[in-house]
Amino acid sequence: MKLLRVGPNGEEKPALLDKNGVIRDLSGVIKDVAGDSLHPDSLAKLAQIDASQLPEVPSSVRIGPCVGGVGKIICIGLNYTDHAEETGSRVPREPIIFAKATSAICGPNDNVVIPRSSTKTDWEVELAVVIGKTAKYVSEEDALDYVAGYCVLNDVSERAFQLERKGQWSKGKSCDTFGPMGPWLVTKDEVGDPQQLDLWLEVDGHRYQNGTTNNMVYGVAFLVSYLSQFCSLQPGDVISTGTPAGVGMGVKPEPVFLQPGQTMRLGVDKLGEQNQTVVADS
Ligand code: ZN
Repeated sequence: MKLLRVGPNGEEKPALLDKNGVIRDLSGVIKDVAGDSLHPDSLAKLAQIDASQLPEVPSSVRIGPCVGGVGKIICIGLNYTDHAEETGSRVPREPIIFAKATSAICGPNDNVVIPRSSTKTDWEVELAVVIGKTAKYVSEEDALDYVAGYCVLNDVSERAFQLERKGQWSKGKSCDTFGPMGPWLVTKDEVGDPQQLDLWLEVDGHRYQNGTTNNMVYGVAFLVSYLSQFCSLQPGDVISTGTPAGVGMGVKPEPVFLQPGQTMRLGVDKLGEQNQTVVADS
């Protein structure tokens, strides 16, 4: 199942993408793609619905972030061997984690805004994991039982804020619009093995990132289990699992950063594509 949220910013309604690629209104069935509606039992019920009976939504509608009411976004740093190498870092002995503010979340095709004092805004295509039921002290073996599904997330990053302004990375990761999510949440039954997905990103048609989740240092099941030892993971929480090689700061001989007017196109196998235009802050 592909679940999404459509409508103006802040007023999104739940929807699903049917087998023919038509968007169908789910607002008569669930309140939102959020919280309890992500529980495995709730998803199983939704899967029984005859989508052709649901009202059709025009394809011109704005697509919002695919999950509402996200409680936390936990991101994993340096989780691909090829990306750790390009940044000159060692593969970490335990996962590096940092928080991205939920206020950074935006729709998959919304503009990405370069903050006023930014000089080094960069891109990161990632596989994001959406939690479906509360996970606390779960084993790696059981971890995927707690996952509702997956989506694309662009972990937009300001490298000067992140690395040169001291303190935690969260500062360079949390700016408004630095978290495009979607277009859809794809339930895990449709995705299969999360460690066999290609992911890629282009800026103005030039392909910078071309990776596979097979190169993750710590896989999805390990990460869900690992994080659940430190804090409970709640329905609607998001884990963004790190980015492969090819970010702007890794370009040789000189790093490349985003400029107003540029466009990003990115995707993950089975999870759809995002398209963003980069704009200056007003
Ligand atoms: Zn990242």
